[in-house]
Amino acid sequence: MISFVGAGPGNVDLITIKGRKLLEEADVVIYAGSLVSKDHLNFCKESCQFYNSASMTLEEVIEVIEESVKMDLRVVRLHTGDPTIYGAIREQMDMLDAKGIDYEVIPGVSSFTAACSSIKKEFTLPTVSQTVILTRMEGRTPVPEGEDLEDLARHKASMAIFLSVQDIDKVVEKLAKGYESYDIPVAVVYKATWEDEEIVRGTLQDIAEKIKNKGISKMAQILVGNFIDGDYERSKLYHPSFTHKFREGIQ
Ligand code: SAH
Repeated sequence: MISFVGAGPGNVDLITIKGRKLLEEADVVIYAGSLVSKDHLNFCKESCQFYNSASMTLEEVIEVIEESVKMDLRVVRLHTGDPTIYGAIREQMDMLDAKGIDYEVIPGVSSFTAACSSIKKEFTLPTVSQTVILTRMEGRTPVPEGEDLEDLARHKASMAIFLSVQDIDKVVEKLAKGYESYDIPVAVVYKATWEDEEIVRGTLQDIAEKIKNKGISKMAQILVGNFIDGDYERSKLYHPSFTHKFREGIQ
């Protein structure tokens, strides 16, 4: 059996209990070495074999899985954050399907929620935004038409931008065009939940300079929107005047 496991954003205790158990029992672990904390590997058996996928092709990863499964070994494919977001797991699953190899997917804490927790905010505030846009700017990987940052920013929804901090100038320019303002709160969270986490707060006006001064050019979430700063209406759910069937004891 092969399990795709979300390792969480960094801190080793932010993996699910299910994920940790699978690591403890694994015979083979293939981990995304550039982003997954090596500390996770300390929970594995002494006999466990490790492969760092950072230096492997998709075909090589699949070969290791195939050979291991043939020998009835338990394999964990450890991905950073949640594997279903920019995890490139679909292409792996499709190749396993083609070979008739069974697998499961164990979710994880994504870096976008970890980053929002680090700044102690909530993405979804009544009257501010009830929508979260997870996206990235096009780089070597293009984004489909209609998903340009400028177009997405027009919604004025809360945004978590992955994989883009190295192009912060372009990110800011596109967001400001979409928002039609530079006066929009931004928080950049570098290595959320790691020991060397850094939080940089600002607006579209000054965030690029601030993060360049800090030398942040990778592994950061760019959180954007009025959920970071400013007014909101309190939640109806917990308002004393809001009729709520559980609070009123109605079955
Ligand atoms: N599957 C992962 C995302 C992988 S793509 C998840 O759910 O989080 C890699 C990008 O994720 C990085 O470029 C960065 O934008 C973001 N990222 C991953 N870990 C992070 C962390 N601890 N803090 C901030 N951003 C992180």
